[in-house]
Amino acid sequence: MDLGISGRSALVCASSKGLGRACAVSLAREGAVVTLVARGAEALEATAHDIRRETGARVLTVAADITTHEGRAAVLAVCGEPDILVTNAGGPKPGDFRDWDRDAWIAALDANMLTPIALIKATLDTMLARRFGRIVNITSAAVKAPIDILGLSNGARSGLTGFVAGLARKTVGRNVTINNLLPGPFETDRLMETARLWSRQSGKTEEAVLAERRAGNPAGRFGTPAEFGDACAYLCSAQAGFITGQNLLLDGGNYPGTF
Ligand code: NAP
Repeated sequence: MDLGISGRSALVCASSKGLGRACAVSLAREGAVVTLVARGAEALEATAHDIRRETGARVLTVAADITTHEGRAAVLAVCGEPDILVTNAGGPKPGDFRDWDRDAWIAALDANMLTPIALIKATLDTMLARRFGRIVNITSAAVKAPIDILGLSNGARSGLTGFVAGLARKTVGRNVTINNLLPGPFETDRLMETARLWSRQSGKTEEAVLAERRAGNPAGRFGTPAEFGDACAYLCSAQAGFITGQNLLLDGGNYPGTF
C-alpha cells in the first residue's frame, strides 16, 4: 500500500533511538523527507546515515534538546514547515510521588505535555493553510491504564491527551489530523533500563525480569519498534484523513477492557 506521503516533510522528535527512530524509518521508506532530533549528536548522525542508506530518503538532523525553547527554535529553523509532526521526548523517571517536588513536575510537564503543544502551535496553521497535516504524539499505555510508579508520566501525558482531544476536532475539516500512539512494552533502550532497575530492586536477574514481563503479556513478547513505526506511518498517510482525536494502544492486548 502506497501511503501517499512521498515528498512530504516530516519532523520526528527524539528519534536517534527507539520508537522515534522507528517512526522516522517507516516515514523515510514512504519517501518522506525526515528531520531527526536528539541531544546526542553521535547516535543521531549514525541513525541518519543508516536511514539514508536503507531508504535513499533525504534525512536532516538537529542535535538539540526538544524540551527547551532554544532547541525547538533550532529544529524548526532546519525543518521549516513540516507536513507531518511526530512529537516525542524521553519519559520521566519512575518513583514515589512524595519525592517529586515542583521542579520534577514542571520538568515532566515541559517534556511530555508543553513541548508537544508548543510544536503543534508552531506548525498547525501552515498545515491548515495547505489542507494537509498529520500530527502523532507518542504518549504511553500509562495514559489508559496508569502505572503507580510512573505518576509524573501518567499526569503530564494525560494533560496532553485532554488538550489534543479538543483540538483534533477543530482541524480535521481541513485535513489535519491529530492522534496519539500509546506504546505498551516495546523492546528499546528505555525498556532495558527499566528492566535493570527492577532487577536491582527485586534481586532477580535482568533476564528473569524480562522473561516474566514477556510471559505476562497476552502476546507473549514485547513489541518491536518496527511495528510501532509502521503504525505511525499509517496514521500519517494520505488515507488516514478520517482518523482524528484517537488514542491507539499498541500493547499486545495487555489492556483487558472491551474498549
Ligand atoms: P529510548 O529508546 O530511550 O529513545 C529515546 C530517544 O529520545 C533517543 O533518541 C534520545 O536521544 C531521544 N531524546 C530523549 N530526550 C530527548 C530530548 N529532551 N530532546 C531530544 N531528544 C531526546 O526511548 P523509547 O523507548 O523510544 O521511548 C520513547 C517514548 O515512549 C518515551 O517518552 C517513553 O517514556 C515512551 N514509552 C516507551 C515505552 C517502551 O516500552 N519503550 C513504553 C511506554 C512509553 P538523546 O538521549 O541523545 O537525546
